[in-house]
Amino acid sequence: MLCANHKGGEYGLCSDCQQSLPWHIAPKCPQCGLLSDGHICGHCLQSAPSFDATRALFSYDYPLDRLLQHYKYKESLHLADTFASLFIKNLLDAAPNNHTQPDLIMPMPMHNERLKQRGFNQALEIARLISKHRQIKLDFTSCQRTRLTPPQASLPLKERIKNIRGVFQCDKNLQGLNIALVDDVMTTGASLNELAKTLKQAGAAHVECWVIARTLPRPH
Ligand SMILES: [Zn+2]
Ligand SMILES: [Zn+2]
Repeated sequence: MLCANHKGGEYGLCSDCQQSLPWHIAPKCPQCGLLSDGHICGHCLQSAPSFDATRALFSYDYPLDRLLQHYKYKESLHLADTFASLFIKNLLDAAPNNHTQPDLIMPMPMHNERLKQRGFNQALEIARLISKHRQIKLDFTSCQRTRLTPPQASLPLKERIKNIRGVFQCDKNLQGLNIALVDDVMTTGASLNELAKTLKQAGAAHVECWVIARTLPRPH
C-alpha cells in the first residue's frame, strides 16, 4: 500500500505516496463529479440532482480506498488532517470561484446509534478542519437522520434511493444560503442527493458536495 515512513512529508504523506494516490484530475461533470468532457454530463442534464456541484479530491481507488477505510475505522485519525489539508490546497485554494466560500459547511449526518458504535463521524472531523482553516461556519446540528437505515454499501442503486428517502430532517431556515456538504466517499450520490433535497426544501440556494473520494463506474 503506502510506505511506512512519511517523516518530512507534507500533509502526513511523503511525496512518493502522495503521487501514488488516485487524484481525480480527469475532465469531469461539474455537477456530479463523474467523468465527462468537462461539461455537465448527459445524466445530470436529463435528471438533475438536487446538489449544484461536486468537488472530489480522489477517485475511490487503490490505495486511497484502503487509506479511507483505515481512517473510518479509527486506526488513523490523523488522516482527517491530511484529507482536509489536501482538499483545501487542491480544490479550494487552487480553483477559486464564486462558490469557494459557502455560508455553512455541514457534514453528512450520522445516526446517533451508529455514532455510538463507531465513536466518531468521519465526515464531521474533516468538515471541522475545513471549517477552521477556511473560516466557514460549521453546522452539524441543524440536520439529522431521523431513522437508522441499512448501510448504503450493502444495497444496489434502486434500493439505495429507497433506503435513504425522507431520512433527513432539517430544523433550520436556510433561506438563500450557500452550503457545502462534506462526506468521505460519494458512491452513487443517493445520500448526498437526498440531503441536498432536504436543504433546498429548507430554503438553501446553492448546495455543493465536497468529498474526499468519488467512486467512478468501471467500464464493462
Ligand atoms: Zn510514504
Ligand atoms: Zn453529471
